[in-house]
Amino acid sequence: MYSPSISGVAANSESGSRIFIYEVEGMRQNETTDQMSQPIRRSGSVFITVPYDRMNQEMRRIARMGGKILSIRPSNGTAETNGQVAPVSTGQQSQKSEATPKPMTQAKEKVQVPVNLYKPANPYIGKCISTEELVREGGDGTVKHVKFDISGGNLHYLEGQSIGIIPDGTDKNGKPHKIRLYSIASTRHGDDVDDKTVSLCVRRLEYKSPETGETVYGVCSTFLTGLEPGADVKITGPVGKEMLLPEDEDATIIMMATGTGIAPFRAYLWRMFKENNPGYKFKGLAWLFFGVAYTPNILYKEELEQLQREFPDNFRLTYAISREQKNVDGGKMYIQNRIQENADELWDLVQKPKTHTYICGLKGMEGGIDEGMSAAAGKFGVNWADYQKQLKKDHRWHVETY
Ligand SMILES: Cc1cc2nc3c(=O)[nH]c(=O)nc-3n(C[C@H](O)[C@H](O)[C@H](O)COP(=O)(O)OP(=O)(O)OC[C@H]3O[C@@H](n4cnc5c(N)ncnc54)[C@H](O)[C@@H]3O)c2cc1C
Repeated sequence: MYSPSISGVAANSESGSRIFIYEVEGMRQNETTDQMSQPIRRSGSVFITVPYDRMNQEMRRIARMGGKILSIRPSNGTAETNGQVAPVSTGQQSQKSEATPKPMTQAKEKVQVPVNLYKPANPYIGKCISTEELVREGGDGTVKHVKFDISGGNLHYLEGQSIGIIPDGTDKNGKPHKIRLYSIASTRHGDDVDDKTVSLCVRRLEYKSPETGETVYGVCSTFLTGLEPGADVKITGPVGKEMLLPEDEDATIIMMATGTGIAPFRAYLWRMFKENNPGYKFKGLAWLFFGVAYTPNILYKEELEQLQREFPDNFRLTYAISREQKNVDGGKMYIQNRIQENADELWDLVQKPKTHTYICGLKGMEGGIDEGMSAAAGKFGVNWADYQKQLKKDHRWHVETY
């Protein structure tokens, strides 16, 4: 991934290359910034060199880090630009920062949560890059991983947020369709780690009409799962602060998902284990409970199991496969049965201040989870409902069901 350097003059002064200098305030970055001598320190600004083809991404990154761009100037590799003296450093500063090159992303990013950057009246028009079937042969229904190009504007997001989709066409009254929300399944950097995409995990809604018995397909989920690469899609958001991941690299993250509820957890796990983020090196414990109907319905199965093999000390994976596995009473294996099996350990973890629990997926899954946790807490004479209230107050119990 691209990591621009903070320096007084352009780091890349190759003849003909197009480099710009952003003057930014509001970002206290790292030792490199702090060691800079006047005029940078006196102005309170930092100067960031940015190649032309990274300008949009860099603007978004600066916004995420709480910075404000005061000016953008072309650089020809010297302090003199278009006859004007750009307020950049002297050669001495340049040498200093080049001698100790430190990518800005080494600093802990104090990230602002972006919300409603694009509203329904003026949605972002993204492009479908790909759709990939996630349900394997013998599985139930259709679930697709859908990736969009969002490189053209200012749409950015954090793990755990959702975006809105406005499907093409009109409803039965001839009005534009209303928005449907979808949890984002990619990290803030996107599946290609280039800050240019956002991905979703979408199940096509399909049910028998209670009145006619005919098969009915959901409007937006059918639209999304049927997209062709290159198609334009109206996107709003991002929204949601409930499911954000704590910045603590030593946290314990317990995740309970059914079906497409895996989406935000895919984003967490990819951030924790697949990306090499200088500002976030996960060293804690992530434990995923994943409930599905059949083995072929285990979404992202290969990748999840690969992570488990690679990070056995930091990642635990527990499936509940309702139509194939049996619980201790001989009934179907649901996620709450797995909670009950692991109740003592979960109760132990949940009490630790570093532990966050996340629940995502089908409405109704919470009931069983509460039953399991009640049994565990009850063993120690604790009332689960009261305890859970406190966890919610402490922002350590996060639920998004639909
Ligand atoms: C925060 C949030 C995150 C979400 N994340 C995801 C996600 O990651 N992936 C995902 O796939 N979905 C997700 N959803 C659900 C998504 O927003 C849509 O609701 C879903 O895709 C269905 O929309 P649709 O337009 O296809 O269906 P619609 O055309 O809107 O049809 C839905 C309607 O069909 C009716 N209906 C549905 N089932 C039945 C039934 N069995 N019997 C009779 N009537 C029925 C109900 O009236 C229902 O309101 C999320 C929802 C929320 C709120």
